[in-house]
Amino acid sequence: MTNPAADVPAWAWDEQQIRRVGMAVADILADYLGGLAGRPVHRPVPEHLKREWAAEAPPRSGTAPDEILARFTEQIAPYPLGNGHPRFYGWVNSPPAVLAVYAQVLAAAMNPSVAGGDHAAYYLERQVVRWFAELACMPDGAGGLLVSGASMATLTALATARHHAMSRVGIDVRARGLQAPGPRLLLYASAEAHGCVRKAAELLGIGSDNIRDIETDSLLQIRPDHLAATLAADRGRGDLPVAVIASAGTVNTGAIDPMAEICAICDEHEVWLHVDAAYGGPPLLLLPEYHDSREALGRADSIAIDPHKWLYIPVDAGLILLRDPERARHAFSLVPPYLRTDDQTADTAWFSEYGFEQTRPFRALKIWMAMQQLGLDGYRDLIRRDLELAEYLRARVRSAPDLELIAGGLSITCLRYRPAGWMGTPEQLDQLNHRLAGAVQQAGRAFLAGTTVRGQAVLRACLVNPGARRSDIDVLLAEILRHGAQLASRTGS
Ligand SMILES: *Cc1c(COP(=O)(O)O)cnc(C)c1O
Repeated sequence: MTNPAADVPAWAWDEQQIRRVGMAVADILADYLGGLAGRPVHRPVPEHLKREWAAEAPPRSGTAPDEILARFTEQIAPYPLGNGHPRFYGWVNSPPAVLAVYAQVLAAAMNPSVAGGDHAAYYLERQVVRWFAELACMPDGAGGLLVSGASMATLTALATARHHAMSRVGIDVRARGLQAPGPRLLLYASAEAHGCVRKAAELLGIGSDNIRDIETDSLLQIRPDHLAATLAADRGRGDLPVAVIASAGTVNTGAIDPMAEICAICDEHEVWLHVDAAYGGPPLLLLPEYHDSREALGRADSIAIDPHKWLYIPVDAGLILLRDPERARHAFSLVPPYLRTDDQTADTAWFSEYGFEQTRPFRALKIWMAMQQLGLDGYRDLIRRDLELAEYLRARVRSAPDLELIAGGLSITCLRYRPAGWMGTPEQLDQLNHRLAGAVQQAGRAFLAGTTVRGQAVLRACLVNPGARRSDIDVLLAEILRHGAQLASRTGS
């Protein structure tokens, strides 16, 4: 027997080599994750490395794995985004569940395409999707698929909603596109909705000018009365509402739109309800205190959830849930109904018929393994820890004379530094807070991002990090006050 790969030794690894390099990788991983807390949260990539990477040519000949791994340890691992560190509170980037990191490797070893077919990865994805549909109180028959993230989930949902709305007025958007005259298509969202809604509207030919800007109340939640009035006026004019986008946890302040009222309005106007639960999904699905929102959530037509955010799954892991998955099939499938054989029931249908991706990664394994290991109760504990720590942060901000609590929902806190006796202009205060986020990041002891809330520059801390402690929050606050005072003294001079 000749080994067909014998003349390409760099490609063909024997079991011993797989084991040896795997152990070396496990060592690197243990050092990396084990050492994170002791290193700066963030440090900039050195200029010489940036130059080297920008200029480096593709390697002509091969290099031994050990050397490549050493380069990872020296040049790449020391310069992470910062997430995983107990004092990283930027955007919505969680530390990864370790078993899910290993699951990613195992999934890659099997390396299937999960377009469809009769193999384990296919059934595991179906199971994971069903778990979430049940947790979200969706009715029997609900389904969905894993995608790269909530942006892709939103695009998939709105493409389905567009197809559904247009078929109901007798237009086949798949065949004719938006080339012929037809009713004006409209989407409904507040200014707090995530940018992916706008991207999807633009890509789907609806256009960002056709997103109705629904007003929000003092808590930055959609005002149902304004939504209802806008929908009624548009329908009266003969426009075609495609979908309402509600947020279950806005990315900016963690606001939860009034789900039950929005649901009722969508029912009345027979318009698609898409709920963006990318960030807020996990607490809503798992914690008893969100029971009411959860019931309303289950009545939505589609829901986007990001397991790669508050379920600590390594990127990428997004999920789209659909109350009636066949609608997505109508919008995406290239298999005509008359070609579907009897054994292609909804239980064996290909995922690639329900969305845009054809070759699809085995995303379910990492979610499945993390859920197996932690259990729903384990997740409840971790999410509660994040929520409690956010409460602690808000309480400390409220009691600090130089800090103002601007907004806070779920595990997000938006605050502002305003030194006692501040004499500067509002613009200067905006400038100060804008610079402050950068100054804290640069110092490397804690990390939070800047954003704007109601037009004001603020600091935003998002806690999706069960490794964080109260003492870490104390460090964050000390950093804000220290750098704030320094910047203020410069502004004042
Ligand atoms: C992160 C986020 C998105 C976008 O999701 P991606 O996974 O980045 O594509 C959409 N909506 C909300 C509320 C988010 O937090």
